[in-house]
Amino acid sequence: MGAIKCIGILTSGGDAPGMNAAIRAVTRSAIYNGLQVKGIYRGYRGLVTGEIKEFKSQNVSNIIQQGGTILKTARCQEFMTPEGRKLAYENMKAENIDALVIIGGDGSLTGARIFAQEFDVPCIGLPGTIDNDLYGTDTTIGYDTALNTIIDAVDKIRDTATSHERLFFVEVMGRDAGFLALNGAIASGAEAAIIPEFNTEVDQLEEFIKNGFRKSKNSSIVIVAESEVTGGAMHYAERVKNEYPQYDVRVTILGHLQRGGSPTAHDRILASRLGAAAIDAIMEDQRNVMIGIENDEVVYIPFSKAIKNDKPIKRDLVNVLKELSI
Ligand code: ADP
Repeated sequence: MGAIKCIGILTSGGDAPGMNAAIRAVTRSAIYNGLQVKGIYRGYRGLVTGEIKEFKSQNVSNIIQQGGTILKTARCQEFMTPEGRKLAYENMKAENIDALVIIGGDGSLTGARIFAQEFDVPCIGLPGTIDNDLYGTDTTIGYDTALNTIIDAVDKIRDTATSHERLFFVEVMGRDAGFLALNGAIASGAEAAIIPEFNTEVDQLEEFIKNGFRKSKNSSIVIVAESEVTGGAMHYAERVKNEYPQYDVRVTILGHLQRGGSPTAHDRILASRLGAAAIDAIMEDQRNVMIGIENDEVVYIPFSKAIKNDKPIKRDLVNVLKELSI
């Protein structure tokens, strides 16, 4: 696409391990294809304030293994307003940026969609979130690393849980999606997962206790997705104290450590592949799509679909967890 000579790249919203690998891939792939690259700092805030710097290949050297994002990330209220977005557009034009690559979650892609519509700017999104809650891609950048962090932590908690014969509730992130909790539970051999998707269907705690979780075990770990819907791990611990006082219960909230760390091979490869595909999409004159991977193929998902649709939890995984935790 001849009209596009310079692309801007930014990371926005919640950070995720692998964002740096994506920045590297987008930058190198753009340069390889003869495009100029500008790094925009602190998400949309840098676009609004003009915190923008040209990126050469060496600006992204030695970052594939680093967690976090060298471009920094932020949440930007100003970009939520038409005035803020106008400023962003003016800065973009002043910097001769013709198209944007946005690495972020649901909110960041929503912002991209609105900006693209208002100013007719080509925007390409990359799914960067540990929550894996974006429709149209099998996994998101950062999810696999966060899962591995969770299983490392739960393995350690298991040692102390077993020694004291305790019931542990371990709270993981997910922001209203149960992917980290459910797959974290399967991968760590936890006894159950409490996830927002099933909150209205059953009383997940009651089901877990009624299934007789203590029959063959001297410790139990339940992974709880952090969410207003579930109420989080503390809520369930309180319930156990009141409703089943015979159990010795403890809570661990993993919190922000799930966002850090060197990305796994899976996330590095995913980020590299998606980053290169973002530039392919720009060269093919695609706009306003998120790049995803489905069944090991690169796919372009319109922002409207990626944002609006909820990504469903696979029911068979719920059954796997149930069957294997007897
Ligand atoms: P994430 O991308 O991780 O979901 P947020 O939901 O915090 O993170 O969104 C990141 C940023 O995207 C916001 O701070 C804001 O700048 C921008 N954004 C989110 N929603 C909108 C919207 N409806 N309109 C414009 N910008 C938005």
